[in-house]
Amino acid sequence: LVKDSGGNAYHRFDPSMLRYREKRRERLRELHSAIARDEFVLHYQPQLNMATGEIIGAEALIRWQHPQQGLLSPAEFLPVVTGSDLEAPMGRWVVREAFRQCSQWHQAGLNLKVSVNISAHHLMTPDFPEFLAAELATHPGLSPQSITLEVLESTALDDTRRAGNVIEACRAMGFEIALDDFGTGYSSLAYFRSLPIDLIKIDKSFVRNLLDNDNDRAIVESVVFLAKRFNRPVLAEGVETAAHARLLKDIGCDYIQGYGVARPMAPGRFTQWLAQWHKNPQRQTRPLLWEP
Ligand code: C2E
Ligand code: MG
Ligand code: MG
Ligand code: MG
Repeated sequence: LVKDSGGNAYHRFDPSMLRYREKRRERLRELHSAIARDEFVLHYQPQLNMATGEIIGAEALIRWQHPQQGLLSPAEFLPVVTGSDLEAPMGRWVVREAFRQCSQWHQAGLNLKVSVNISAHHLMTPDFPEFLAAELATHPGLSPQSITLEVLESTALDDTRRAGNVIEACRAMGFEIALDDFGTGYSSLAYFRSLPIDLIKIDKSFVRNLLDNDNDRAIVESVVFLAKRFNRPVLAEGVETAAHARLLKDIGCDYIQGYGVARPMAPGRFTQWLAQWHKNPQRQTRPLLWEP
């Protein structure tokens, strides 16, 4: 029984908190069976090299084909997964599926890189590099250079040394490493010095208002400048318009990814889209299909 003492005293029993916990537990149960029933899918979003007009690869983004609620985006289930005992199993599923897809594309003659998001907890599981090696070995034709591991900037924040060691081990095996959501952490600059990184992905929050916010523009320019100084390529996320793309190209950004190029797509649609892209004769000079 909960006694309401009135005034400013807080309730020891908060029914809304209980409902929240119940919902969360229920969601976790559903997610456990989702793995067993193979209800997750990866969608792919192209990454464009602005200098050549070529699609260099695609980022794999998880979706949950929920039996009643339809296709759910990560925002609707990742918060529940993060920190739970599902984080590593889901991470392993994503890696396996992305490797399988990349390998299949290569066999079909599509020379694409596939980027895979790796959560902090999954990266730090003790046998992570061994897991990658074992998965790689199941696809004899698959080169680790074709796989980019996207690690959140914040992942390395807690324990830079240990994260650095794991990242270095993966890199020694030939995998490429991208620093995702760059600029949202607290000590972004330090990563240039301490971490072995192949690609910097500027967070979309800096890109969104690039055209009319001088501060955001200054930040993007500085990140690009630093990346060049350290011989690292830069990709801008969340590029929605041709005007954004043009400005980013002027600033010296190498690659872009965003709805302006294409939304994340199911694998079948992605390859159709790519075939159309290759047919566009102007893609060298005007890389964005929708550019006037
Ligand atoms: P992220 O890795 O930074 O991925 C980029 C997110 O931005 C994706 O959201 C993508 O759909 C969205 N996006 C792409 N272009 C645009 C654009 O032009 N405008 C806007 N507003 N958004 C754009 P999504 O797919 O909902 O994923 C959200 C986040 O969930 C990802 O951010 C990533 O952190 C996480 N995530 C997605 N898939 C996986 C996965 O397989 N494993 C793990 N650990 N995390 C994942
Ligand atoms: Mg990512
Ligand atoms: Mg990102
Ligand atoms: Mg993000």
